[in-house]
Amino acid sequence: MIDNVHTDVESLSAETAPGTVFDQYAAEGVLAYQRCGGCRHAVFPPRVLCPSCGCDDLAWQPSAGHGTVYSATVIAPRGKEPYTVALIDLDEGFRMMSTVTAGDGSAVAIDDHVRVEFRPAGEDAPLPVFVLETAR
Ligand SMILES: [Zn+2]
Repeated sequence: MIDNVHTDVESLSAETAPGTVFDQYAAEGVLAYQRCGGCRHAVFPPRVLCPSCGCDDLAWQPSAGHGTVYSATVIAPRGKEPYTVALIDLDEGFRMMSTVTAGDGSAVAIDDHVRVEFRPAGEDAPLPVFVLETAR
């Protein structure tokens, strides 16, 4: 069993590595996650094996990019603008950490509705960030 898992992981190419596939979706403006074919668990961040049941039947799915703030904290680096880092529960059932911005500079609160946007990151894949959503 352990040997099989080891072999599967080694057979992954750079092109099919979970992080690479996520970046390819991000380049097209899609927030992707995985759905386990064994237990239907929504998996994020991208993995090779389901953290819930251990099977490797993980299918990529596009998220609609809508979620609610589970928790939020303001980071205030010395000499720089403060920013908000939040845990976001996406509607599809996975949780991710990202930054959240409110257009008018107001505070981000727990249970606020947010939606994903992608921020260009130069040579790297665009980064998913979240903005407050006023009506949904
Ligand atoms: Zn599973």
